[in-house]
Amino acid sequence: MIRDIVIVGGGTAGWMAATYLNRVFGDRVAVTVVESDRVPTIGVGEATFSTIRHFFDRLGLAEHEWMPHCSASYKLAIRYQDWRAKGEHFYHPFERLPDVAGFNLADWWLYLDGDVSRFDERCLVIPALCEARRSPRSFDGRLLGEYTEDGRAQFPYAYHFDAALLARFLTTFGVERGVRHVLDDVLSVEQNDRGWIDHLVTARHGVVTGDLFIDCTGFRGLLINQTLGEPFESFEDVLPNNRAVALRVPEDMGLRGVEPYTTATAAPAGWIWTIPLYGRIGTGYVYSDEFCDPAEAEATLRAFAAPDSPDLEANHIRMRIGRNRRSWVRNCVAIGLSSGFVEPLESTGIFFIQHAIEQLVRDFPDAHWDQALADDYNRRVAEVIDGVREFLVLHYLAAGRDDTPYWKAAKTRAVPDGLAGRMRTWASLLPDESSVYPHFHGFDTYSWRVMLIGLGGWSTRPRPALALADADAARAVFADIPRRARRLAATLPDCHDYLAALHTGRVPAVG
Ligand SMILES: Cc1cc2nc3c(=O)[nH]c(=O)nc-3n(C[C@H](O)[C@H](O)[C@H](O)COP(=O)(O)OP(=O)(O)OC[C@H]3O[C@@H](n4cnc5c(N)ncnc54)[C@H](O)[C@@H]3O)c2cc1C
Repeated sequence: MIRDIVIVGGGTAGWMAATYLNRVFGDRVAVTVVESDRVPTIGVGEATFSTIRHFFDRLGLAEHEWMPHCSASYKLAIRYQDWRAKGEHFYHPFERLPDVAGFNLADWWLYLDGDVSRFDERCLVIPALCEARRSPRSFDGRLLGEYTEDGRAQFPYAYHFDAALLARFLTTFGVERGVRHVLDDVLSVEQNDRGWIDHLVTARHGVVTGDLFIDCTGFRGLLINQTLGEPFESFEDVLPNNRAVALRVPEDMGLRGVEPYTTATAAPAGWIWTIPLYGRIGTGYVYSDEFCDPAEAEATLRAFAAPDSPDLEANHIRMRIGRNRRSWVRNCVAIGLSSGFVEPLESTGIFFIQHAIEQLVRDFPDAHWDQALADDYNRRVAEVIDGVREFLVLHYLAAGRDDTPYWKAAKTRAVPDGLAGRMRTWASLLPDESSVYPHFHGFDTYSWRVMLIGLGGWSTRPRPALALADADAARAVFADIPRRARRLAATLPDCHDYLAALHTGRVPAVG
């Protein structure tokens, strides 16, 4: 059996993997994290995907137990600002579009309305809650509206948190439950005569041996790429953003308020994220160095996000966009940035980590190291990352913006094979279950619909059948959505007020 897992790297990936594997396998498997105190973590990664909820559930952690330690806040949606046209916005929420009388509500909207500037508020409830800055929970801890705690498939919200604080919180959580923590530099990774990893050599703790080695060393891929030589396949031909500059902006959030969403604002050579935490703003400009240099990017970000704080330290990051050909090679599995990464537009970095950990548990090997398990893992990890790649390319192809060389080039750039055909189909028909990327990649069909319509640059026609169908039921649903939204906005608390209560232990222990 595999009894000894050694994880190299103590960022979000390393500690999420360590705590989850420890939770699943208990003391039947030893988990060690070797983490350098010299090499910093990436220092960003603050917005998440709604499945993150299941990670905390699996660790047995309720919101009041971890959120106050991580400056955490709620995320109901991503607000796309200026992507369709300057001054316009729409929301991509964690909320499905229902079917009505045999057709999807988005199809009905296209037939009955078609005014893109009102699509999200006409079809969905969450955009109104975002505008009103509501918390998804009421002070008695109940979840918003008609949602229930057991809605596992798509939880209606995700979180923003300080990734460094989460890693520290999970360190304590893991160590208290038996994870061994070695604070040291890995100087070399030694292979046996079959090319499998045999042991690590560290600066102060000597040799560290193990059965399975997990590479969580970030973009450097110390084990998977540098030692085992697995090729990294770049996505820069279709997703050219390869740099970011980030700032942490202190704010009095009580005065400013906390919006329950991430904002992605289109910028001259990319886009800027704004992530409201409980205590500060995380912000950064993701851009392509083909169109903008780091100094210009930093100046753009400062002017946008912190014009009065010239002393804030900027974190410049070169991003490795793409994925390893295989993320599991021999007895090494890469998780996190060492495995693959696409720009954080849809907050998928931590989702990739969570998916990889869950898949590793399902495909966990024994002493026979059945290659079929590794093949299954590699296929699924590749499918998830490739699916998100397609979804992100859609964002640029379908965006209405074309006012700078960067946005103009986005319309003529190479497109992943499958997507080109899908986009042609979507000129006549909105995306449906059988026309979107066919493998699990985290995004439900509704997300493809919301983005295709909301971005405004890819027009599509209503289904002719709707002209012959009875529209009464759809009209009733459209009439009810603003009523439900108003009711919820009137009953749910202000997001900052709820977070203030949660962070000071004044809400009941739920969620
Ligand atoms: C600009 C940007 C924005 C992002 N935004 C988001 C977001 O909003 N949402 C999201 O989900 N994800 C986001 N991500 C992704 C997210 O940040 C990462 O997926 C996540 O932080 C995991 O990083 P990691 O642990 O793989 O690597 P890192 O944080 O880089 O950690 C690497 C670890 O390896 C250790 N290490 C390296 N070399 C050695 C050695 N020789 N010996 C010992 N230890 C070593 C380091 O000390 C460190 O602990 C973003 C990423 C970028 C680049």
